[in-house]
Amino acid sequence: MRVVVVGGGLAGLTAAREIAHVNPQATVAVLEGSGRVGGALRREEVAGHLVDVGAESFLAVRPEAVDLVRSLGAHELLTEPATTAANIWTRGALHPLPRTVFGVPLDPRTAAGILTPAEIERALGERPWGSGPLTQDVSVGEYLRRTVGGGVVDRLVDPLLGGVYAGHADLLSLEATMPAVFAAAARGEGPGAAAAALPARHGAVFAGLVGGVGQLPELLADDLTRRGVQVRSGSLVRSLERLGQEWRLVVGPTTQPEVLTADAVILAVPAAPASRLLAGCAPAAARELATIETASVGVITLAVDRAGLPDLPGSGFLVPAVDGQFIKASTFSSAKWAWTGALSQEVFLLRGSVGRAGEVADLQRPDDELVAGVIRDLELALGRPLPRVVDAHVQRWGGALPQYAVGHVPRVARIRAGVAQAPGVAVCGASYDGVGIPAVIASARRAAAEISDHLRRWADHVEKDTR
Ligand SMILES: Cc1cc2nc3c(=O)[nH]c(=O)nc-3n(C[C@H](O)[C@H](O)[C@H](O)COP(=O)(O)OP(=O)(O)OC[C@H]3O[C@@H](n4cnc5c(N)ncnc54)[C@H](O)[C@@H]3O)c2cc1C
Repeated sequence: MRVVVVGGGLAGLTAAREIAHVNPQATVAVLEGSGRVGGALRREEVAGHLVDVGAESFLAVRPEAVDLVRSLGAHELLTEPATTAANIWTRGALHPLPRTVFGVPLDPRTAAGILTPAEIERALGERPWGSGPLTQDVSVGEYLRRTVGGGVVDRLVDPLLGGVYAGHADLLSLEATMPAVFAAAARGEGPGAAAAALPARHGAVFAGLVGGVGQLPELLADDLTRRGVQVRSGSLVRSLERLGQEWRLVVGPTTQPEVLTADAVILAVPAAPASRLLAGCAPAAARELATIETASVGVITLAVDRAGLPDLPGSGFLVPAVDGQFIKASTFSSAKWAWTGALSQEVFLLRGSVGRAGEVADLQRPDDELVAGVIRDLELALGRPLPRVVDAHVQRWGGALPQYAVGHVPRVARIRAGVAQAPGVAVCGASYDGVGIPAVIASARRAAAEISDHLRRWADHVEKDTR
């Protein structure tokens, strides 16, 4: 049995590992189009230190990522943030982020400064959605503006959603991005009841890896190689078609195409390439995938002299889009992660994120303008000049964050139903059940389980035929 996994990001590498584990007799290959595996998990050198320039932490209250790290024998790398005290930069100052459920404050009075007194009053007087329970998906903004008011949406919810999806509260699906609030609304309960119903948390909410989350693809690729899985970079898959019982993939440059065949294929690529590859064999799924939009973002990492650096409050800050600043968020990496802080006595590492859904012009600026824009905003937020910038690194992430628009959950169900029309093909990755690392791992496992079932049914069928 030959299984080809298209895409060597976290989803593809995880799916390949699951397939190789459950079907040790299968020949498995991962084909990654770019020059290296990892996708949005990546480390680069800044001032001589390897640091994450993509994802840098993962939810520890879900088990998938922590379990994956442990199963790779890297449990000693697991670490918690040294501080999670985040801030909101709004109305001209940095304000500590109060306790919220995805931006909805547990007590609106603790958001004073971020919210005006009138906005606090409005949030305290939570209003019902309508005359009855919510019966269908709406945008986060539409639901929360009506129940807790626009102040909460613009100053708290939108920056938090911006941090995860680089998207806008008024466009993102309540059902897909805030399932607990959606479920409460469908029972006729408001956001306050949803927050109160959440189980009490014990232990850290987020975790990271000493040395960077960008090590995860390296660990996975080493593990795959040990299992005999072929991991190929520079292998862009251009087309996929069914020929008899086999799948035929055209790989590599158009001038030197290579044809591979497989019994099963996992597409662990973003929605746009998945749509192109499925156009011939699962056209309904391809059409649905083509409607999933993405946001492009940039991560600008700075190494600044420690000498003369003011005390930085907490782990960083988020910025509401309504304030019209260039920077979307900043992480004070050397303060947030003890291992990053220990990298150097001389320099402090911090990063700024830029770019939101629908805004592409900013990211098309040259690197030095992006760096200058981030420095300017950091100085404005901190209220004083930064010390000398020793090094800067610009990482652009084009189309990296799928936007879960209203109706995303049923859309994904339709995509999976459409893909089922192509026997032996499965899809996974950030476009489906969540963009965070644990959700992506879960979607990879689901796709691997679907393909393992397919291989088992096929093996049973062949055995019956040969009896
Ligand atoms: C800047 C940034 C910061 C983030 N921070 C966090 C964070 O702190 N915590 C968190 O939990 N999540 C974070 N995320 C989200 C998370 O990292 C991603 O959702 C996840 O890594 C996506 O994995 P994936 O494998 O689905 O997709 P990708 O990482 O996009 O990988 C898909 C791969 O497919 C390849 N590919 C595409 N087309 C083809 C083709 N035709 N043939 C072969 N290969 C192809 C691509 O080159 C790519 O390597 C962040 C994302 C970004 C962009």
